[in-house]
Amino acid sequence: MFVKKYDVVIIGGGGAGLRTAIEVARNPVLKVALVSKVYPTRSHTGAAQGGMNAALGNVIPDDNPKAHAYDTIKGSDFLADQSAVFFMTENAPEIVYELDRWGVPFSRLEDGRIAQRPFGGASFPRTVYAADKTGHVLLHVLFEQALSKDNIDFYNEFFLLDIIQNGERVKGVSLYDIKNGEVVILQTKAVILATGGFARIYWFRSTNAVGNTGDGQAVAFRNGIPLKDMEFVQFHPTGLAKTGILLSEACRGEGGYLINKFGERFMKKYAPEKMELAPRDMVSRAIEQEIREGRGVGRGAKAYVYLDLKHLGEEKINERLPQVRQLAIDFEGVDPVKDLVPIRPTAHYCMGGIHVSNFKTSETPLKGLYAVGECACVSVHGANRLGGNSLTEILVFGKFCGMAVREYVEDVDYREIPAYEIRRYEDFISSLMKREGNEKLAEIRSQMGEITWSKMGIFRDEKSLSSAVEDLSELLERWENIPVNDKSKIFNTNLIELLELRNMLELARAVAFAALYRKESRGGHSREDYPSRDDEKFLKHSLLYYKEGKLILEYIPVDITEYKPAQRTY
Ligand SMILES: Cc1cc2nc3c(=O)[nH]c(=O)nc-3n(C[C@H](O)[C@H](O)[C@H](O)COP(=O)(O)OP(=O)(O)OC[C@H]3O[C@@H](n4cnc5c(N)ncnc54)[C@H](O)[C@@H]3O)c2cc1C
Repeated sequence: MFVKKYDVVIIGGGGAGLRTAIEVARNPVLKVALVSKVYPTRSHTGAAQGGMNAALGNVIPDDNPKAHAYDTIKGSDFLADQSAVFFMTENAPEIVYELDRWGVPFSRLEDGRIAQRPFGGASFPRTVYAADKTGHVLLHVLFEQALSKDNIDFYNEFFLLDIIQNGERVKGVSLYDIKNGEVVILQTKAVILATGGFARIYWFRSTNAVGNTGDGQAVAFRNGIPLKDMEFVQFHPTGLAKTGILLSEACRGEGGYLINKFGERFMKKYAPEKMELAPRDMVSRAIEQEIREGRGVGRGAKAYVYLDLKHLGEEKINERLPQVRQLAIDFEGVDPVKDLVPIRPTAHYCMGGIHVSNFKTSETPLKGLYAVGECACVSVHGANRLGGNSLTEILVFGKFCGMAVREYVEDVDYREIPAYEIRRYEDFISSLMKREGNEKLAEIRSQMGEITWSKMGIFRDEKSLSSAVEDLSELLERWENIPVNDKSKIFNTNLIELLELRNMLELARAVAFAALYRKESRGGHSREDYPSRDDEKFLKHSLLYYKEGKLILEYIPVDITEYKPAQRTY
């Protein structure tokens, strides 16, 4: 084991972690560690296809940050904190220009300015993009910028085990070196969690990378930091039918249709004005409704509807949606240029996450601990995120968090980490390695996937949710009896998957628990037993604490400064 000292430790090498690191490292005397369980360019940000929102007004000059804010707040079903939303939309254009200067190859208009495409729930074409590979190019450019800073040390393929704190503030982190099987301690003044989302709890139908297991959220939760609005998970309407792999919202942004087995564009019943470009929660429910009422193709788990891109023509598909075409060919065996594409909703994004108590700094209730990106809940997405707003969020809040942390660490010292605390983590790993038991990791993970999809998916109710809480608690107990069969130290993925599974089970149960007590339908949370929104009782954020093995739910008010909640029609 070794112990090293850094002014700032950032956990996560995706868009949020990299953008924050670049900002902190602007002060050359600060030493920064950037930790990632996968090589940074393999982070899930690289999978983002469609683009990011910023009111540049390049296509329609009337667009502006206020319109972007209103669309975001309406899309959130009025649960977003409005000051935070305005902060994001006002800072978004500068973030895009900065990326442009750093070399992101944005798609262009004829006159050379950055192109913008329409996206769901947006009143103007506002989404900037690089074909349908926006996240990929963005992640590589950010990585390049971070590599150019001499004061950032990269800990690639190191796994966060825990934060080390004294009840008042953070002192360090404990990591597991995946390549060598050693525990490593980093002593630090500030920790920034940027560990991404956890939509992999829907193990069988998710757009997310297998590593999106919510490790940072689970670590924060176990350390007494509350998770906010966990009941809100986003299901993306267009997952490939067989695998749940994402086909970008850009498909509909570029003019794609959704049709049922009778060839009807069914969105005209559900959102007559916006049609296919209604927000994701509504479109996903509409697809499921069509399937339930027998207008999908097939039945049960294998049923689907179609995405129709044929009328866009081969040239436009190749220019704007090349990756979408390839994914459909490779994973569904159909070519969108000439075939209909079978699709169905798939778990995609987590609106909830680590409670951020000050959006300007991204600090959490524990001093020295910050959270940015999909693992955080600021909240700018409320009950439903608009497509293209996550990349905006991770970069805007990453930048400002970096600025705040740069100042914070100037006035604080390191705190001692006694040897016994360090040994605790070595003992923890060796106890896992020695563990005996007859449970199987893959089996428990499959059961989790079935529970999450069938009991806490797009539609839920009291019965399904309370049974999900019970089932997941039982799986957590059974987790204690899963042995690590691979005893090697070098790249032990068996051990890592065991650690990830505990995190997923804890978060899945948190989602079910918060969902059980939100007795209304709002955004991505759709209760069949409480089908309407109830502003009187539930216009508030949930805060879930984990104390002495118990889940404790509290609520805090929504910050409403500009727009009173109104009915949400499209
Ligand atoms: C397929 C897909 C397409 C999308 N398309 C869009 C889009 O077009 N527009 C948009 O706005 N949003 C999109 N999103 C959402 C958006 O991409 C994500 O919300 C965002 O990129 C998350 O960034 P992040 O930096 O917070 O997390 P990530 O990019 O997921 O990075 C998380 C980082 O944390 C590290 N990490 C996690 N756990 C640990 C641990 N235990 N120890 C050490 N390191 C750890 C990982 O290694 C990784 O580096 C899409 C999402 C998906 C899944």
